[in-house]
Amino acid sequence: MKFDITDIKKESGAVMEIRYQGPLVQDDLYDMISVKDDVLIEGTLTNQGEEIFLSGVLKLTYTGQCARCLKPVTRTMTLQLNERFSSRDTDDDDVYPYEGNFVDLTKTVNDNIIVALPVRLLCSEQCKGLCPVCGKNLNQGSCQCRPEQEDKKQEKTENPFGILKDYFSH
Ligand SMILES: [Zn+2]
Ligand SMILES: [Zn+2]
Repeated sequence: MKFDITDIKKESGAVMEIRYQGPLVQDDLYDMISVKDDVLIEGTLTNQGEEIFLSGVLKLTYTGQCARCLKPVTRTMTLQLNERFSSRDTDDDDVYPYEGNFVDLTKTVNDNIIVALPVRLLCSEQCKGLCPVCGKNLNQGSCQCRPEQEDKKQEKTENPFGILKDYFSH
């Protein structure tokens, strides 16, 4: 994701169009989610004197597992990229460094994706998940396990011996 900015470096205000279609670099940054398909980046780099400004759109498709029922989930995401690059030392955390005549978008792209990904991936907000007792996918119907009260369910997930305790009390 490196772009040669030789053409716009000479002149403040100069603009160049950029396009990248290819694999995401370092896609192992994301624990539960993988980006296997090519990502697409389209936009412009503008010489703003002190800095190079990136304005663009990033499109990607990611896959993962539903945090409740473990079903595979595939989602498409479109992100706006508005980032600044500088070749000078700066304390500004919002500015990405570049050297020489190349701006590398790898880090800024990865940072933008991490911020935009859901904390918990769900197949649907209404996903009922798996029964904690028998493991049946409750989206496909209820199971034979006896109905429980909410506070008991809580105890089971928080205390691994909750299930045993329940078992022995019968
Ligand atoms: Zn689910
Ligand atoms: Zn069950």
